Amino acid sequence: MRYLISRRITQVGIIALYILAHVYGVKMLEGNLSSSVLFGSIPLSDPFAMMQMFFAGSIITMDVFIGALIITIFYGLLGGRMFCSWVCPMNIVTDAANLLRRKLGISAIQKRVYMSRNIRYWILGLSLVLSFLMGLTAFELVSPISILHRGLVFGMGFGFAVVLIIFFFDLLVHENGWCGYVCPLGGFYSLIGRYSLLRVEHDAEKCTECMECKVVCPEKEVLFMIGKSSEMVKMGACTNCARCIEVCEDDALNFSIRNYIK
Ligand code: SF4
Ligand code: SF4
Repeated sequence: MRYLISRRITQVGIIALYILAHVYGVKMLEGNLSSSVLFGSIPLSDPFAMMQMFFAGSIITMDVFIGALIITIFYGLLGGRMFCSWVCPMNIVTDAANLLRRKLGISAIQKRVYMSRNIRYWILGLSLVLSFLMGLTAFELVSPISILHRGLVFGMGFGFAVVLIIFFFDLLVHENGWCGYVCPLGGFYSLIGRYSLLRVEHDAEKCTECMECKVVCPEKEVLFMIGKSSEMVKMGACTNCARCIEVCEDDALNFSIRNYIK
């Protein structure tokens, strides 16, 4: 459970820093998940939000550009899609829905609902097109992630309904429905994180093929090598959540650093 506890501490800690800045003026991390300032001087910007601004015709300031570059380099080179499992507050909601779903054994409706994981990439593209056509940051306007984050930092209003809808969608309609199929921000980080260094590695010699990792993995396709070969999870959709590592009693899955030189 050490990774799960670490993830929750990180997610809640980040929200706490925003609240400290907003309520008490402690300027360690100010702003919101789209655009922040770390320690009063280091800009951090969501590169997908910056792209929407660009397509909407907004002027991209140097701060926003540098902030987006820092985030892109961090996730693109090192962390992969870690934003989803270590930072995004919506992940706590969807993990809760998944846990409850497994405990209650709910899977009835999903068998009749087919969704492609590519929907998120289509929504990503559509967000940019709509931003261009409307002159507005299209996904940012309706993003449940921003709604939840604003609600937690500044106070929750009707936005709570959006969070509940996603919770019940994941619980009753489709396993990992929002994060694994719909969310364009998750799709965006899947794309930029596919060549990152931090990866999960599978050791086929230790694996007893119990498939517990596939039960808990929110992106089961990335574990296609289980029962077949020793190799790294290379697909960008892996969130580096480490759930597979935690449930593997054979120590067949572990974090590893991808080696591009050999
Ligand atoms: S897929 Fe979207 S909502 Fe889910 S954790 Fe990632 S960014 Fe957050
Ligand atoms: S492969 Fe492991 S680390 Fe990657 S998403 Fe699945 S459970 Fe999480």
